[in-house]
Amino acid sequence: MAVCYIGLGANLNDPEQQIRDALVALKQLPQTRLTAVSSLYGSKPLGPKDQPDYLNAVAQLQTELEPLALLDVLQAQEQAQGRVRKRHWGERNIDLDMILYDDLQLRSERLNLPHHEMHKRSFVLLPLAEINPDLTLPDGRNVSAITPEFDGELHRLKPLTELL
Ligand code: AMP
Repeated sequence: MAVCYIGLGANLNDPEQQIRDALVALKQLPQTRLTAVSSLYGSKPLGPKDQPDYLNAVAQLQTELEPLALLDVLQAQEQAQGRVRKRHWGERNIDLDMILYDDLQLRSERLNLPHHEMHKRSFVLLPLAEINPDLTLPDGRNVSAITPEFDGELHRLKPLTELL
């Protein structure tokens, strides 16, 4: 069993429902258990500013799926929710990123683990710290030690624990 963290982001077509639908889908994955879900957060868009604000959350999974098999199901779920790539860092119904898969380090065309931007993104780090404040990041730092740097960038909106 691997412990894996998935970042969810949405800013189109009822983003809260998009996040909820994706979490239900994660819960139903084969050989997988949804073991924790962060609160729902609001953030300003990276990249183009002429797009709606984002809603974000992070989910913790225990899974027997191999990393690429998990990426396949995440991408299939993005498609199922009607993800249309309009532009880089642009608006989307749902974005599902694999942030960590145990302490696996992988650099390949399809999959980078840990996710290469994770240590810079408040909408990844703050929900991660909420779920697992003792988590050690790939660079050796404790997640809770660096979240104060991102104070004010992210707004905690409501819990999603009823989805567990
Ligand atoms: P994005 O626009 O952020 O959803 O990026 C999607 C692309 O990133 C896909 O082509 C994936 O194969 C690739 N990718 C690389 N590493 C990861 C990761 N850790 N999680 C999700 N997608 C990844």
